Amino acid sequence: MKPYVAWIAMGIVQFVVLANAPAIAATAQAVGYYSKGSLMAPSDFPLQGKGFIELFPGRNRYYGTQALVDLITDVASNMVDLFPGLERLQVADLSAPHGGAIAPHNSHQNGLDADLVYYRVDHQEQDPSHTQGLEEVFVKKGKLTANFDIPRNWALMKAFAASGRVERVFVDGVIKQTLCNEAKRVGEFQTQEESLRMLRPLEQHDNHLHLRIRCPEGNPECIAQEEVGGDSGCQSLNPNEIPPTIPLRSSSEF
Ligand SMILES: [Zn+2]
Repeated sequence: MKPYVAWIAMGIVQFVVLANAPAIAATAQAVGYYSKGSLMAPSDFPLQGKGFIELFPGRNRYYGTQALVDLITDVASNMVDLFPGLERLQVADLSAPHGGAIAPHNSHQNGLDADLVYYRVDHQEQDPSHTQGLEEVFVKKGKLTANFDIPRNWALMKAFAASGRVERVFVDGVIKQTLCNEAKRVGEFQTQEESLRMLRPLEQHDNHLHLRIRCPEGNPECIAQEEVGGDSGCQSLNPNEIPPTIPLRSSSEF
């Protein structure tokens, strides 16, 4: 290559590199671990958009990494295409503006966790300004209520799993059991193993699911969680059996 050609080529490469370089301070950064961490330069979760609405905006806990915001908004939008005209995905707490501990959560500290309301058969949305918590409970006395929209919640889990970004989804044990059975019923038990494996049965998740994503690329101070090993956790269950629930307080997993 002639020197001036090389020089021009290097100039183009430099220009492209500089043009695409993220402004470090402007990109949200997950720091530390889910239950011991913080959030730098957070992205705001939008108050509403296609297929979703933010609950409790007055709590000021709608901050996260861009990866988390993008995943929820993309999936919510795709869900509308699959199931038009129904209630929106109701998004509850993410993280505080700079992350850190927020009661009553153990995690939600570094912009990688979000609480989402399960889809409902009655398609009602709760008043987003109501601050007293999530109003609909989907498991009562160890039984799924009729208001849990099984096909739509199963489609939601598949969409999250398909992103490849999800670390875990905490759900009630009865809800995991329900989705194990649904996967078998619709012939997706083999092909959707990851969608089931990521579901971790945990206490106090009868009114919401807890989405947790992996450390995004370009977040060098983010501490990863150990991957969920083994099979889907449904293999050895008979249809009436509820998978063992992780106790909330004694668990380091949450
Ligand atoms: Zn949560």
